[in-house]
Amino acid sequence: MMNLLVTGGAGFIGSNLIRQVIDQPGISKLVNLDCLTYAGHLENLDGIHGVHPCYVFEQVDLRDKAEVLRVIRQHDITHVMHLAAESHVDRSITSPGDFITTNINGTFHLLEACRAHGFCSAFSIQHQLVRFLQVSTDEVFGSLGSHDPAFTETSSYAPNSPYSASKAASDMLVRSYHQTYGLPAIITRCSNNYGPYQFPEKLIPVVIQKVLSRQSIPVYGDGLNVRDWLHVGDHCQALWNVLTSGKAGETYNIGGENELTNLHLVQMICDLIDELKPELGGHSRSLITFVADRPGHDRRYAMDAAKIRAELGWAPAHTLASGLRETIAWYLGRQAAAASVGRR
Ligand code: NAD
Repeated sequence: MMNLLVTGGAGFIGSNLIRQVIDQPGISKLVNLDCLTYAGHLENLDGIHGVHPCYVFEQVDLRDKAEVLRVIRQHDITHVMHLAAESHVDRSITSPGDFITTNINGTFHLLEACRAHGFCSAFSIQHQLVRFLQVSTDEVFGSLGSHDPAFTETSSYAPNSPYSASKAASDMLVRSYHQTYGLPAIITRCSNNYGPYQFPEKLIPVVIQKVLSRQSIPVYGDGLNVRDWLHVGDHCQALWNVLTSGKAGETYNIGGENELTNLHLVQMICDLIDELKPELGGHSRSLITFVADRPGHDRRYAMDAAKIRAELGWAPAHTLASGLRETIAWYLGRQAAAASVGRR
């Protein structure tokens, strides 16, 4: 049985993760540690927060070292899934400070709390009794050329933004706690996620909102930057497989095997909304507007997920076409529900 700590559980991936795993028979308690920044919303956990018997919420800032240790001790945490982070690249360019204090110092506080709570005994490394799972990003590897092979677990780190540099630094701290203290840590790195409950500053929800409100859709540069899109449900399944069956000290890359340019993705969203909401008048592609590129914008990311497929039997269940259709339908349903509340 595990007492599982999920950090950042009120955010996009964290809330999807909690929804997906909370009823797993192995969990006796699930603690969501989140300080609720602009990106954290407890409504993402409607039906669980304040309701589910295994669920506990701790409104704690990772930058508060004493409070982080208190949570780990009070709930006798055995497994950690560490997702809390400042996660938006554009914000890291305009104000990098929070990325350093949360992503680096916050991870350090969590590692220290786990060390103080006895996560580092040699016995734990051999068994699944305790685990520390660090959720990282493909962005730590930097940018690929158009013909380069996808990133593997042995690719070198070459982060290009304050966001990816802060995630790379926190990965290095996690690695060092495994090497130095025997912390049974595992690092996963995933590609761009999409799906329900994403904060509306990220590409896919931004495009959906712009199309629905018939405003111009901003696309950076020439729109030919390539990303590998992973459905958040597939990502959460991979994280659970890694937590329960992954080997301590290992790293696993998780990718959706859906590489395409940002422009192509935006066009797909326009076409799907034209089909699902014909009353908007169609021709949504005409709203696309190219804007000045983001500084240091990585050209291409792609993940080779062969290791997690072979060792842990994971494979994505969604194609981009099916996942995107489902995601847009979810946002349209939410918008309709909000409008009907507004009318009452
Ligand atoms: P998000 O921004 O939606 O959510 C982050 C959550 O962390 C929020 O609930 C926020 O309140 C919380 N948080 C932030 N600072 C905190 C602090 N100091 N103390 C406690 N809580 C704090 O992020 P996301 O998109 O869900 O990403 C989750 C993780 O996955 C991050 O570590 C991110 O680097 C990684 N990741 C995300 C993607 C993606 O496409 N979204 C891709 C690769 C990796």
